[in-house]
Amino acid sequence: MSFSSLALSSKILSAIAKKGYKEPSPIQAQAIPAVLSGKDVMAAAQTGTGKTAGFTLPILELLLKGQKAKPNHARVLVLTPTRELAAQVGESVATYGAELPLTSAIVFGGVKINPQMMRLRKGVDILVATPGRLMDLYNQNAVKFSQIEVLVLDEADRMLDMGFIRDIKKIIALLPKQRQNLLFSATFSPDIRALAKGLVHSPVEISINPETTTAETVQQTIIPTDKKKKSKLVSHLIKENNWQQVLIFTRTKHGANKLTKDLESQGIHAAAIHGNKSQGARTKALANFKTGEVRVLVATDIAARGLDIDQLPQVVNFELPNVPEDYVHRIGRTGRAGAKGHAVSLVCSDEINELQDIEHVIQQHLERKIEAGFEPFNALPDSRAIKPLKSGRPQKIKKKKVEHKDGQRSGDNAKGHKPKSKNPRHTDTNKLGNSSAKSGRRKPNPAANSNKKKQSQSADPYSATR
Ligand code: AMP
Repeated sequence: MSFSSLALSSKILSAIAKKGYKEPSPIQAQAIPAVLSGKDVMAAAQTGTGKTAGFTLPILELLLKGQKAKPNHARVLVLTPTRELAAQVGESVATYGAELPLTSAIVFGGVKINPQMMRLRKGVDILVATPGRLMDLYNQNAVKFSQIEVLVLDEADRMLDMGFIRDIKKIIALLPKQRQNLLFSATFSPDIRALAKGLVHSPVEISINPETTTAETVQQTIIPTDKKKKSKLVSHLIKENNWQQVLIFTRTKHGANKLTKDLESQGIHAAAIHGNKSQGARTKALANFKTGEVRVLVATDIAARGLDIDQLPQVVNFELPNVPEDYVHRIGRTGRAGAKGHAVSLVCSDEINELQDIEHVIQQHLERKIEAGFEPFNALPDSRAIKPLKSGRPQKIKKKKVEHKDGQRSGDNAKGHKPKSKNPRHTDTNKLGNSSAKSGRRKPNPAANSNKKKQSQSADPYSATR
């Protein structure tokens, strides 16, 4: 199948061609016609499947018809759980809509609200937002919902995990009854189904790459070792294999900070990204990682959710996640869009239960490799035989201990997480049509330009491509 068979305008097709996409991914092949038909859509698809273009492309097409956004109004609302995902979705909207006369804005907490209010004054076609900041803007009359034509809930499962259900319900209650609803989630858990019940009407259901499957292009191994040997083992692996770009997952923010320090002390340039970091620090860490200035990015699950780093070759699980499905998300950071990837998990004997849960969810035993010099003193027990997944009933997902809310409200500032720098890309009303034809990306708008000097410290990760 080709994109040209999908009833998309030539300007959208041209933006796709500039991105180098040859053919629609399976989710795109199903979601694009469904969204174009005006129907509600409920899609089970992980990050890495191309789901963002799956909803963005047809939405852009639909927006070409109809009335322009009135001041302080938006026509499409995309809700995301994290700031990083909001920024990424906003970047995709700008890229795919580069040649269209449409506008977009990205709003989230952790940065000043005033510039966002100013940007919303003229109205925008597509508003990408995290729930907390959106409610703050709504409460200050900066955004009105009466013109919303389409609502997208992106990574809805993660939004529920992060405790956004009340905000989401409040927002949904404020929207016009007549609208199209698109719900994207990695799983269709009972909680998601309950949310969907009050949201989507006779939806087209799409299921791609369900939660229990891991990308075939990712080579997965585990290295049994002891907990206290893990830090040295990581630096050994990085140096020995000459890994140049590694994303490492830790369970806690404290663990992420500690490992970053340990790696730095071993001469490996590393940065941590988690909910206690200011937005400026997170943005800078990601930007430096994308450009290769930082070799290792150490992240907690929530902070890493939605990170789209093209062709990431190496993911390391410093600890196994508590929730087995998070393992699938984590290793989905590598081997994306058909590229080869490698995921290594360092597993100590205490983690045998987590390992067995993961092996059950992915329905395969992970290959174990002992690393000479790092053999475990406390042997990792053998995994039990794998029982088939129960079919029919949805799998009960274990409740996850939420460390923090990444799509925080602006109250974060009051808590002392003051951003050290400003990044206009996170607040700007982006004129999609301004994009540079050559790069397929948009030019910064004039407001951003006038601030350029001030912002030079906060590099923009979302324009850094590799
Ligand atoms: P997503 O699942 O939306 O986060 O997209 C994952 C990655 O796949 C992104 O880097 C996209 O640029 C890329 N991508 C999306 N659609 C396609 C496509 N049709 N062909 C190749 N790469 C794609």
